[in-house]
Amino acid sequence: MILVLGGTAEARTLAATLVAEGREVTSSLAGRVSRPALPPGRVRVGGFGGVDGLVRYLTDQRVDLVVDATHPFAAQISANAATASSRTGIPLVRLERPGWRDHPGARGWTWVADLVAAREAADAAGRPFLTTGRQSLDTFLPWADRAVLVRIVDPPEFPLPDRWRVIRARGPYDYPAEHRLLVEHQIDVLLTKDSGGEHTAAKLTAADDLGVRVVVVERPPRPEVPTVTTVVAALDRCRPASPSGPT
Ligand code: NAP
Repeated sequence: MILVLGGTAEARTLAATLVAEGREVTSSLAGRVSRPALPPGRVRVGGFGGVDGLVRYLTDQRVDLVVDATHPFAAQISANAATASSRTGIPLVRLERPGWRDHPGARGWTWVADLVAAREAADAAGRPFLTTGRQSLDTFLPWADRAVLVRIVDPPEFPLPDRWRVIRARGPYDYPAEHRLLVEHQIDVLLTKDSGGEHTAAKLTAADDLGVRVVVVERPPRPEVPTVTTVVAALDRCRPASPSGPT
């Protein structure tokens, strides 16, 4: 059985293709969002209970291969997967979409190590647009008196300051809509994480075109495991080696 650690569009595509090929696959979701987009095939939801729980799961379920296709900022589950793989000897492949370092505007952006540094980098700017995720919002509470625009998928976990305007939406987002949004809300600085991929990249191009400052949180460090950057390459790793012998 192939275990796909998911929560990303790439994980869903991978699971869908494996299921279509008749492979035995289980997708695992953390259970953070209220109405997750579910991949085809078997799905389990919720944490494993740390490394020990994951090791138990891999052994009990006779997992042959783990594909860690979690989000680039989900550092804990990736670290757990790497440790569980080396403890059990069950192979692990990481599927991680490329970041935005190669975006045409990237050199002009402010790259920072974490959310606090992102806040500090944008402290003096005018109106901020926060796209760093629901779990990041407490870091920005010192901005309670500022007119902040926030975009999140699920509702916030605590009441947000009255001056903040919240947009609930799930990507993908296109360029014309992102351009309009930045203009309409008179955004001066866009704060985001280096999630990478195309689904949420239009805001960056729109910001560059409008001269809006961009602050990007760099990806957290990752354990060193075999890594691919596309679903196609991940599928290759999932296919059993072709039988050898005379042709
Ligand atoms: P995290 O900090 O790396 O993980 C925290 C704990 O959540 C893990 O130790 C594990 O609990 C559980 N967990 C995380 N992903 C899991 C999965 N796919 N299946 C089962 N358990 C999982 O993760 P996170 O940053 O909170 O992200 C949670 C999920 O949301 C991930 O699956 C990720 O792909 C998705 N996501 C995250 C972001 C982001 O910005 N962080 C954005 C989009 C989607 P146990 O230790 O109990 O096993």
